[in-house]
Amino acid sequence: MSLHHKINIAIDGYSGCGKSTTAKAVAYQLGYTYIDTGAMYRAVTLYFQQKEVNISNLDEVDNALKDIEIRFILNSDSQKLHTFLNGVDVENQIRTPEVAAMVSPVAALSAVRKALVAQQRAMGKNKGVVMDGRDIGTVVFPDAECKFFLVADIDIRTGRRVKELALSGISVSFEEVKNNLLNRDHIDSNRADSPLRKADDAIEIDTSYISIEEQIHKVIDIAKNVIAQN
Ligand code: C5P
Repeated sequence: MSLHHKINIAIDGYSGCGKSTTAKAVAYQLGYTYIDTGAMYRAVTLYFQQKEVNISNLDEVDNALKDIEIRFILNSDSQKLHTFLNGVDVENQIRTPEVAAMVSPVAALSAVRKALVAQQRAMGKNKGVVMDGRDIGTVVFPDAECKFFLVADIDIRTGRRVKELALSGISVSFEEVKNNLLNRDHIDSNRADSPLRKADDAIEIDTSYISIEEQIHKVIDIAKNVIAQN
C-alpha cells in the first residue's frame, strides 16, 4: 500500500488537445480512476436528441434529466471504459458529428451542469481520480491537488480529431471538424455558467509540438511530485 494519500487530478482545456488520451494514461499508470466528463455531456445530448427534447423549454429539460442514468463500464474486449446511457452502451454514438454539433449548447444549460457536476463530485469524493473536462479545476474540484490546462494550435487539434474519427470509420472534412472545434471553444468559453477558463493554479501545457508520450510523461512527473508531498 502506498504511504501517500491519493489526490485528485484535473485536466481541463480546449477541445482536441489530447486531454482524454493523457488523462487515461495518467490514471492507468497511477492506478487511479479515469472520468471522462465530456462523455457525460455527450450522453445527455444524445438522450435529448433521441427524445427530441426542446432545449429552450427548461421544464422539458428538467424532466428529461430525471430519466437519465450514466455509468462507465469496462468493456472486456477492448479493455476500455465505455459510456452507458440508461443501461445501453453508447460509446460510439456519443462520438458522432451529430452529437458534437449539439453538445455545447446542451452543456451551457445550468440544469444540465448542476446534475452532472453533482455526479462528478460524488465520483471523486474519495480521491484517486483523473478527471478531464472544461470546469474541473475551476468548479467541480477547485481544491484538486493537481491541475492542468491543455492548449494547442487549432489546425493541429483539427488534424488529430480528423484522424481519430477516421479510425472509428467516420469520415468528416478538415473544415467541418475545425468549425466544430472553434464553435465549441467559443460556446464553452463564453457561457454564463462555468465557462472554460484556466484555473489560477493550473499548469498550462501547449501540446502542439510535443508527442503524446511527452505530454503524458510531463503530466505524470508533475503529478508524482505532488503525490509525494501529500
Ligand atoms: O471533452 P469533449 O470534447 O468530449 O466534451 C464535449 C463537450 O462537452 C465540450 O465541448 C463542452 O461543451 C462540454 N463539456 C463541458 N464541461 C465539461 C466537459 C465537457 O461543458 N466538464
